[in-house]
Amino acid sequence: MAIKTINDVNLSGKRVLVRCDFNVPIKDGTINDDSRIVAALPTIKQLISQGAKIILVSHLGRPKGEKNAKYTLAPVAGELAKHLGQPVTFVEDCVGPEVEAEVAKMGAGAVVLLENVRFYAGEEKNDPEFAASLAKLADAFVNDAFGTAHRAHASTAGVVKHLSPAVCGLLIEKELAYLGDKTAQPERPFTVILGGAKVSDKIKVIDALLEKADTIIIGGAMAYTFALAEGRTIGDSLSEPDFVDTAKSALAKAKAKGVKFLLPLDNLGVKDLDFGAGTVGEQKIFEGNIEDGWEGVDIGPKSIELFSEEVKNAKTVLWNGPMGIFEIDACNRGTFAVAKTIAESGACSIIGGGDSVKAINMAGYGEQVTFMSTGGGASLEFLEGKELPGVSVLDQV
Ligand code: AMP
Repeated sequence: MAIKTINDVNLSGKRVLVRCDFNVPIKDGTINDDSRIVAALPTIKQLISQGAKIILVSHLGRPKGEKNAKYTLAPVAGELAKHLGQPVTFVEDCVGPEVEAEVAKMGAGAVVLLENVRFYAGEEKNDPEFAASLAKLADAFVNDAFGTAHRAHASTAGVVKHLSPAVCGLLIEKELAYLGDKTAQPERPFTVILGGAKVSDKIKVIDALLEKADTIIIGGAMAYTFALAEGRTIGDSLSEPDFVDTAKSALAKAKAKGVKFLLPLDNLGVKDLDFGAGTVGEQKIFEGNIEDGWEGVDIGPKSIELFSEEVKNAKTVLWNGPMGIFEIDACNRGTFAVAKTIAESGACSIIGGGDSVKAINMAGYGEQVTFMSTGGGASLEFLEGKELPGVSVLDQV
């Protein structure tokens, strides 16, 4: 399914409602990470140069359908203005007569940012009346909020009924190209590295990628459920015993399809882990079984070597999920080593959102990868092969 983008339509002079993902971390009015704002700039700048009237709408946090100053988008307007080099008018609501009056004053190339759309319960319920009041502000719609594209909300899907054209922005276009096309027709060998906490969260992704990848590497706590499936002991490591059969099926499917499936050869075990304090007690490397009383928290040196060799030979690499509890210094070696190898591999490197993006930035390799997704849940659902409701409702080529 090919979706129209802002390059396929003429939005000059039109009032355009642009759904962005400005769900940025804000503390005491200061934005701690502006990468989502930066990711939205190409679309906004292109619309400015076309002389559109740009009405930006986004959510921030989970205000649960009520106005709450803690979740105001006001700081984003100032930050955006700095990046764009032009004023961005912040409107203290997102629907109603005052917002309509503000929009009526807009000239060509003007930018307005509406207040948090989740201050209304109708947003997440995709309430048709709420969607109609939002849509009333504009003539056309652009969805560029990949991070919420897996949700059918009023501002991601409901408004489309009223606005034409309804197309995607340059960020969503890029996300679909990397997470979709580049993994559907990858340059081979195509190596996938999956980690993180739970097999249950990622089994559908594993299933879908078993159809496309040449190699699948598993790390993180997920690997301990696979270790149980292989009959190994895992001490006190995090695992999902209810998903051992699921792990066994994935292993069998990989074998049947001839997909190389690599699990850690060794693990770092620790005692007395204190996540809050960021500390661990005694440490020991285990090859094979992990003894009782020890918790597996990272992959070991032999696994790092095995995984790195595989990544070095790949032409396309997709990474989602850390190899260990990378938030704690003593447990970040495997994750950071994988980040380094990916960054230096020369392969087309695609980093699925959330923790892997955080980890690759912490390791200092963010600038060296080909693409970092802005969507955590959305990138996983898309990789699973699910339709994204915020995308599938848009105009098709
Ligand atoms: P996910 O959201 O599923 O990608 O999981 C990310 C989380 O998995 C991070 O917060 C990691 O600390 C956690 N994680 C990774 N490896 C382990 C492990 N061996 N034991 C416990 N948690 C882990």
